[in-house]
Amino acid sequence: MATNNIYQYSILSALLNGICQTGTALKDTLAHGDHGLGTVPGLNGEVVIVDGRAYHFPPGEELRKVEMSDALPFVMITRFEPTFQKALPSLSMTSLPEALSPLLPSRQNCFLSIRLDGMFRLITFRVIAGQCRPREPLSELAKRQQIVSLENIEGTLFGFWSPAFSGGFSVAGFHLHFLSKDRTRGGHVTGFTGDVSLQVAVIDKYTVELPQSEEFNQEAIKGAREAELHDVEGG
Ligand SMILES: [Zn+2]
Repeated sequence: MATNNIYQYSILSALLNGICQTGTALKDTLAHGDHGLGTVPGLNGEVVIVDGRAYHFPPGEELRKVEMSDALPFVMITRFEPTFQKALPSLSMTSLPEALSPLLPSRQNCFLSIRLDGMFRLITFRVIAGQCRPREPLSELAKRQQIVSLENIEGTLFGFWSPAFSGGFSVAGFHLHFLSKDRTRGGHVTGFTGDVSLQVAVIDKYTVELPQSEEFNQEAIKGAREAELHDVEGG
Protein backbone atom coordinates (compact mmCIF):
# COMPACT_ATOMS: atom_id res chain seq x y z
CA MET A 1 0.00 0.00 0.00
CA ALA A 2 1.27 3.47 -0.89
CA THR A 3 2.50 5.64 1.97
CA ASN A 4 1.63 9.25 2.72
CA ASN A 5 -1.66 9.43 0.86
CA ILE A 6 -4.83 10.50 2.63
CA TYR A 7 -8.00 8.46 2.38
CA GLN A 8 -10.98 10.35 3.73
CA TYR A 9 -14.57 9.23 4.23
CA SER A 10 -17.25 11.97 4.10
CA ILE A 11 -16.55 15.69 4.42
CA LEU A 12 -16.35 18.19 7.26
CA SER A 13 -19.35 20.14 5.91
CA ALA A 14 -21.50 17.05 6.44
CA LEU A 15 -20.51 16.99 10.14
CA LEU A 16 -21.16 20.74 10.44
CA ASN A 17 -24.67 19.96 9.23
CA GLY A 18 -25.03 17.08 11.68
CA ILE A 19 -24.89 14.36 9.02
CA CYS A 20 -23.21 11.57 10.96
CA GLN A 21 -25.58 8.67 11.65
CA THR A 22 -23.84 6.08 9.49
CA GLY A 23 -20.29 5.56 8.31
CA THR A 24 -17.56 3.26 7.08
CA ALA A 25 -16.39 0.34 9.23
CA LEU A 26 -13.04 0.66 11.03
CA LYS A 27 -11.77 -2.53 9.37
CA ASP A 28 -12.32 -0.97 5.90
CA THR A 29 -10.69 2.28 7.04
CA LEU A 30 -7.57 0.47 8.26
CA ALA A 31 -7.07 -0.91 4.74
CA HIS A 32 -6.07 2.66 3.82
CA GLY A 33 -3.56 3.40 6.59
CA ASP A 34 -2.41 3.28 10.19
CA HIS A 35 -2.62 6.89 11.47
CA GLY A 36 -5.64 9.13 11.39
CA LEU A 37 -8.52 10.89 13.07
CA GLY A 38 -12.28 10.85 12.91
CA THR A 39 -15.51 10.64 14.83
CA VAL A 40 -18.29 8.20 15.75
CA PRO A 41 -22.05 8.15 14.92
CA GLY A 42 -23.98 10.99 16.55
CA LEU A 43 -20.67 12.89 17.04
CA ASN A 44 -20.48 11.26 20.44
CA GLY A 45 -16.80 12.11 20.99
CA GLU A 46 -13.79 11.82 18.69
CA VAL A 47 -11.39 9.17 17.43
CA VAL A 48 -7.63 8.97 16.94
CA ILE A 49 -5.81 6.20 15.09
CA VAL A 50 -2.16 5.64 16.09
CA ASP A 51 0.03 2.69 15.01
CA GLY A 52 -2.97 0.92 13.48
CA ARG A 53 -5.15 1.08 16.60
CA ALA A 54 -8.22 3.30 16.92
CA TYR A 55 -9.32 4.91 20.19
CA HIS A 56 -12.58 6.70 20.93
CA PHE A 57 -12.92 9.44 23.56
CA PRO A 58 -16.59 9.63 24.54
CA PRO A 59 -17.76 12.70 26.48
CA GLY A 60 -17.36 12.19 30.23
CA GLU A 61 -16.41 8.52 29.95
CA GLU A 62 -13.32 6.34 29.75
CA LEU A 63 -11.48 6.14 26.47
CA ARG A 64 -12.30 2.91 24.64
CA LYS A 65 -10.85 0.94 21.75
CA VAL A 66 -12.89 1.14 18.55
CA GLU A 67 -14.09 -2.29 17.37
CA MET A 68 -13.39 -3.40 13.79
CA SER A 69 -17.11 -3.38 12.93
CA ASP A 70 -17.75 0.11 14.42
CA ALA A 71 -18.84 2.80 11.96
CA LEU A 72 -16.90 6.02 11.48
CA PRO A 73 -19.07 8.74 9.86
CA PHE A 74 -15.98 10.88 9.16
CA VAL A 75 -12.37 9.73 9.05
CA MET A 76 -9.02 10.80 7.55
CA ILE A 77 -6.31 8.15 7.49
CA THR A 78 -2.80 7.76 6.06
CA ARG A 79 -0.05 5.15 6.01
CA PHE A 80 2.39 7.36 7.89
CA GLU A 81 6.01 7.31 6.78
CA PRO A 82 7.64 10.48 8.13
CA THR A 83 10.04 12.27 5.78
CA PHE A 84 10.99 15.11 8.14
CA GLN A 85 11.90 14.77 11.84
CA LYS A 86 13.04 17.15 14.55
CA ALA A 87 13.50 17.11 18.34
CA LEU A 88 11.87 20.17 19.90
CA PRO A 89 12.44 20.67 23.64
CA SER A 90 9.99 23.54 23.82
CA LEU A 91 7.23 23.29 21.25
CA SER A 92 3.77 24.84 21.56
CA MET A 93 0.68 24.98 19.37
CA THR A 94 1.61 28.57 18.47
CA SER A 95 5.23 27.73 17.55
CA LEU A 96 4.21 24.65 15.51
CA PRO A 97 4.01 26.53 12.14
CA GLU A 98 7.54 27.83 12.69
CA ALA A 99 8.76 24.35 13.70
CA LEU A 100 7.37 23.06 10.41
CA SER A 101 9.56 25.45 8.44
CA PRO A 102 10.57 25.00 5.63
CA LEU A 103 7.46 22.87 4.86
CA LEU A 104 5.31 25.80 5.93
CA PRO A 105 4.90 27.97 3.99
CA SER A 106 6.70 26.31 1.06
CA ARG A 107 4.23 23.37 1.01
CA GLN A 108 1.27 25.29 2.47
CA ASN A 109 -1.09 24.20 -0.29
CA CYS A 110 -0.41 20.52 0.39
CA PHE A 111 -1.77 18.39 3.20
CA LEU A 112 0.77 17.40 5.86
CA SER A 113 0.49 14.53 8.33
CA ILE A 114 1.99 15.32 11.72
CA ARG A 115 2.93 13.19 14.71
CA LEU A 116 4.33 14.49 18.01
CA ASP A 117 5.55 12.19 20.78
CA GLY A 118 6.87 13.26 24.14
CA MET A 119 6.18 14.88 27.48
CA PHE A 120 3.52 17.57 27.43
CA ARG A 121 3.93 20.16 30.16
CA LEU A 122 0.40 21.29 29.40
CA ILE A 123 -2.16 19.92 27.00
CA THR A 124 -5.67 21.23 26.47
CA PHE A 125 -8.21 19.30 24.48
CA ARG A 126 -11.92 19.27 23.91
CA VAL A 127 -14.30 16.36 23.91
CA ILE A 128 -17.38 17.12 21.86
CA ALA A 129 -20.81 16.28 23.30
CA GLY A 130 -22.97 13.86 21.34
CA GLN A 131 -26.04 14.89 19.39
CA CYS A 132 -29.32 15.13 21.31
CA ARG A 133 -31.25 14.75 18.04
CA PRO A 134 -30.41 13.72 14.47
CA ARG A 135 -29.01 16.54 12.31
CA GLU A 136 -28.08 18.64 15.35
CA PRO A 137 -25.24 20.81 13.90
CA LEU A 138 -21.67 20.79 15.21
CA SER A 139 -21.98 24.44 16.29
CA GLU A 140 -24.71 23.42 18.79
CA LEU A 141 -22.64 20.52 20.13
CA ALA A 142 -19.63 22.81 20.56
CA LYS A 143 -21.64 24.78 23.15
CA ARG A 144 -21.77 21.64 25.31
CA GLN A 145 -18.17 20.53 24.73
CA GLN A 146 -15.98 19.55 27.63
CA ILE A 147 -12.53 21.21 27.88
CA VAL A 148 -9.82 19.25 29.68
CA SER A 149 -6.33 20.49 30.65
CA LEU A 150 -3.67 18.07 31.85
CA GLU A 151 -0.13 18.79 33.05
CA ASN A 152 3.05 16.74 32.66
CA ILE A 153 1.57 13.89 30.71
CA GLU A 154 3.32 11.67 28.17
CA GLY A 155 1.55 10.98 24.95
CA THR A 156 1.14 11.29 21.21
CA LEU A 157 -0.53 13.89 19.04
CA PHE A 158 -1.52 12.91 15.55
CA GLY A 159 -3.30 14.86 12.88
CA PHE A 160 -3.10 16.90 9.73
CA TRP A 161 -2.34 20.32 8.35
CA SER A 162 -4.98 21.00 5.69
CA PRO A 163 -4.58 23.85 3.20
CA ALA A 164 -6.88 26.88 3.40
CA PHE A 165 -8.74 25.95 0.21
CA SER A 166 -9.80 22.59 1.68
CA GLY A 167 -12.18 24.09 4.30
CA GLY A 168 -15.51 22.32 3.90
CA PHE A 169 -13.75 19.05 3.14
CA SER A 170 -11.38 19.12 6.11
CA VAL A 171 -10.48 21.41 9.03
CA ALA A 172 -8.28 24.06 7.34
CA GLY A 173 -5.03 24.52 9.30
CA PHE A 174 -4.07 22.14 12.10
CA HIS A 175 -6.38 19.37 13.28
CA LEU A 176 -4.66 17.27 15.97
CA HIS A 177 -5.94 14.62 18.37
CA PHE A 178 -4.17 13.62 21.60
CA LEU A 179 -3.69 10.13 23.05
CA SER A 180 -1.97 9.65 26.42
CA LYS A 181 0.84 7.09 26.62
CA ASP A 182 -1.21 4.98 29.05
CA ARG A 183 -4.11 5.09 26.56
CA THR A 184 -6.60 6.46 29.10
CA ARG A 185 -7.07 10.10 28.00
CA GLY A 186 -7.47 11.94 24.74
CA GLY A 187 -9.35 14.47 22.67
CA HIS A 188 -9.26 17.19 20.02
CA VAL A 189 -6.29 19.41 20.82
CA THR A 190 -6.76 23.16 21.31
CA GLY A 191 -3.33 23.95 22.80
CA PHE A 192 -0.13 22.42 24.18
CA THR A 193 3.44 23.00 25.30
CA GLY A 194 5.92 20.15 25.48
CA ASP A 195 9.28 18.51 24.94
CA VAL A 196 8.55 16.44 21.87
CA SER A 197 9.83 14.75 18.77
CA LEU A 198 8.11 15.96 15.62
CA GLN A 199 7.56 13.72 12.59
CA VAL A 200 5.98 15.00 9.40
CA ALA A 201 5.13 13.78 5.92
CA VAL A 202 3.92 15.72 2.89
CA ILE A 203 0.82 14.18 1.30
CA ASP A 204 0.72 13.98 -2.47
CA LYS A 205 -2.62 12.25 -3.00
CA TYR A 206 -5.89 13.09 -1.29
CA THR A 207 -8.84 10.77 -1.90
CA VAL A 208 -12.36 11.42 -0.63
CA GLU A 209 -15.13 8.83 -0.56
CA LEU A 210 -18.61 10.31 -0.39
CA PRO A 211 -21.29 8.54 1.68
CA GLN A 212 -24.02 6.93 -0.39
CA SER A 213 -26.58 7.21 2.41
CA GLU A 214 -29.99 8.83 2.10
CA GLU A 215 -29.01 11.11 4.99
CA PHE A 216 -26.05 12.48 3.01
CA ASN A 217 -28.24 13.53 0.09
CA GLN A 218 -31.30 14.84 1.95
CA GLU A 219 -30.40 18.45 1.23
CA ALA A 220 -27.67 20.40 -0.56
CA ILE A 221 -24.72 20.63 1.84
CA LYS A 222 -23.25 24.10 1.74
CA GLY A 223 -19.52 24.77 1.79
CA ALA A 224 -18.15 25.63 5.25
CA ARG A 225 -17.57 29.27 4.43
CA GLU A 226 -21.11 29.75 3.17
CA ALA A 227 -22.56 27.93 6.20
CA GLU A 228 -20.50 30.10 8.57
CA LEU A 229 -21.60 33.23 6.75
CA HIS A 230 -25.20 32.17 7.30
CA ASP A 231 -24.56 31.80 11.03
CA VAL A 232 -23.03 35.29 11.17
CA GLU A 233 -25.97 36.73 9.29
CA GLY A 234 -28.44 34.88 11.49
CA GLY A 235 -29.80 33.04 8.45
ZN1 LIG B 1 -11.09 16.72 16.02
